[in-house]
This record gives sequence, structure tokens and C-alpha cells, in this order.
Amino acid sequence: MNETMHDPTLDPTRTSWVASANGHAEFPIQNLPLGVFAPAGGGPRGGIAIGDSIFDIGAAVGCGLFAGAALAAAQEASGRSLNALLDAGSAARRALRRAVSDLLATGGAGRAYAARILHDAAACTAHMPVQVGNFTDFFAGIEHVITAGRITRPDNPVLPNYRYVPVAYHSRASSVRLSGSPLKRPNGQRKRPDEAAPSFGPCRNLDYEIELGIWIGPGNPVGEPIPIAQAPHHIAGFSLLNDWSARDIQSWESQPLGPFLGKSFSSFVSPWIVTPEALAPFRRAQPPRPDGDPAPLPHLLDGDDQAHGGLDIDFEVYIHSARMRAEGTPPHRLSTVNASVLYWTVAQMVTHHTSNGCNLMPGDLLGTGTVSGPDVGTEGCLLEMSRGGQKAIDLGNGETRHYLVDGDDIVFRAHCRRPGMVSIGFGECRGRIGPAS
Ligand code: CA
Repeated sequence: MNETMHDPTLDPTRTSWVASANGHAEFPIQNLPLGVFAPAGGGPRGGIAIGDSIFDIGAAVGCGLFAGAALAAAQEASGRSLNALLDAGSAARRALRRAVSDLLATGGAGRAYAARILHDAAACTAHMPVQVGNFTDFFAGIEHVITAGRITRPDNPVLPNYRYVPVAYHSRASSVRLSGSPLKRPNGQRKRPDEAAPSFGPCRNLDYEIELGIWIGPGNPVGEPIPIAQAPHHIAGFSLLNDWSARDIQSWESQPLGPFLGKSFSSFVSPWIVTPEALAPFRRAQPPRPDGDPAPLPHLLDGDDQAHGGLDIDFEVYIHSARMRAEGTPPHRLSTVNASVLYWTVAQMVTHHTSNGCNLMPGDLLGTGTVSGPDVGTEGCLLEMSRGGQKAIDLGNGETRHYLVDGDDIVFRAHCRRPGMVSIGFGECRGRIGPAS
């Protein structure tokens, strides 16, 4: 925490001349998340969210507002993807953050250039912040594993490898898309237990999964694993991730090789990358494992990671049905859950991923797996909330759900709060279900 105490960009007394940033629930000056946006009439370019505005990194370069390492980093972050900045690592990212924070702080030199370097976020279009190279999805939410496992294996929901291996599968990078993209209900092979044979048609059990997305910064050469003490240097930031899931397609296809078409039709990410620097005040000790669980094997165990590798992030899932929108009623909150339920740290995921020599690359995306707690109201997907489709979920307006119906909006939000520090948010990850074609 000493790092946090001495970082002026995290100083809770620091305010911004961008008035909307002060007290902003998502993007105060202590956050400064990175993204790619297009202003009205302009092309995609790198930006930083500040209050209700977006700071145009390339425009600030053009105004001569950067020098030294911050200038080099700003040039890498000015284009239509942030891969080069992610690749440049934490020193470059920190230099840019420090310079932008100073420019936007009350009394900062950026104010004289406000008309050139700031855009009204509401008038801008968000773009994918990163060209995703690979997408790997983990399974680190143990309560998700227990609740989902009970549906198929009531007596043995957690397989013996789970407490040793940060279980994952290779998912599909090409269909990772931005929050707000249209989502068509996928078609696929489905077979209910009472059906004699499978049929091909629209997914009947469409679901979301709330996850934390992890953006990889500098990669590793093939054959050279990342030791766990080095793993934080390879993590460039975090977004919200919706791993849309077709449960009926998934359950029919997954034996024996795992998820495929039940997952690969699309996953959504939120547009802003919250950096490790902004999250520093919200690190926490990884919660102790339950009595009787084995310790992680030595290559996955690091004292500093155990002491600071957890994350204090509160996630929320909302549904806004077509009927709610038509009647003008607000979205219904389905669940809320804290990231402390994750059984593995993100450093353990990175180290495990590379422990056989597999190389990660800048712009790779890792998902934590569904973030779910043990209690009613903390489930991270409808499969858990509906107990495998058996129990109707009351939306509070007369509607119920087992799984998603066409027209449903699903919205994820997340915030970090700590007494004495300024709260930050991730923005939102949103998607609306459209009919199958
Ligand atoms: Ca998942």
C-alpha cells in the first residue's frame, strides 16, 4: 500500500478542472481508464475517460502537452487500437497516466486546450480498445463451479483437479465484441433429456456470465514461462466481460472436449480498460482457502500475490426487458457479487497459462470465469439463479425468466470502494438479445 500512499494520481484530494469528473461514480480523475473512441465526424483514436468527457490522447500530443516517456506512450496510444501501449508495459502506462492526471488536475495545463483535447462522451462512439489476439476463459469462481456442478453431479460438484489447476479453455477471439453490439440468438444442436434425438434451431437456454476480463500487456517468448512474481508485469488492465452462453447447445456438445459453439457465438467487453494503477488501492489479500483445501503448488504460490493479489470489485447484473422499457420502469437488479469469491488470483491464471511454455501476447484477453457467490442474489448467471432452468426468477414486474428472451437487455456494472479513497467504476457492459436468423 506504500505505492498507493505515494502516487499523486491516487491522491483522494486531487480534483479536476473537468467539473463532471469530481464525484463521478465511474470516471473521477483517480481512474483515467484507457479506450478507443470516435468523435462525431472523426475516426477511431485512443482516449481516456474523465467524468462525462473523453480526453483525446493524440490531440494532446498535437498540442505539445507531452514530453519524454509520456510522449512516447501517448504516441503508442493515439491510434485505433491500444495494443502498442499494452505491449510497452507498466512504465510507459504509468508515465502516460501521471502526465494526463497532471494535465487534467485542478490548475493543470490542459485547461487552456480544453476545446481541442476534450470531447463530450455522449457524442462519441466507443470502439474495441484492443485487437484481441487470443481469448482464454478460466473457471475461477468456485461457487459457480459448485452450483453449476450440482446440476449435473449432485454428489460430486467439484472435480479433484479444481483445487490444484486454474481450469480454463481456449475460447474464440474473433467474436469478442464491444458492449452494445447487437447479439443474435445463436442456432445450434439442442437436445432436452425428454427428447429422443437432437434438433437444430434457436438456442432455448440463452444465458450471460459476468466475468472480469484481463488484458495482457507484454507477452512472453514461447518456451519461457512467466514466474508468478513477474505475472503482474504482464497484466495491462481490466474490463467487464460478458461470456454469453447457450446452455442447451453447451450441454449437448461439451462431452468430452469442452465448450465450443455454445460459447463462441460472441462475448462482449466493456469499452474502458481500468489500469492496475487505478486498481492499486483496491487490492486485497487473497481470502484463505477453506479448511481441508490443499495449498497451491509452489509455482502458483507467492507471498506478495497472496497478500495483495485479490481484488475488491463489486459487480452488479441488471436486466431491462422490452416490457420494462415500454412501461418506463427501471432495470431490475438480478445479482450483486464481489470479486473476492474468486478461488485463483489473476497472477495465478497468467502463470498457470504459461507454465508449459505457452506464450501470451499483448492484447490477449483472459476471463476469470463466472463471478458467483454462495448466496441467493450473488449468482453470476441465470443457470445458477434458475437452478438449471428449474426455478422461475421473479423480475418484480410480473415477468419471470428461466433464461433470456428476445428483447432483454443485460447490463453489467462494477465499482471499487474503500474508505479514504475515491471510488471508481468500470462503466458498463451491455447487450440486447435479438432473434435468431
Ligand atoms: Ca465463462
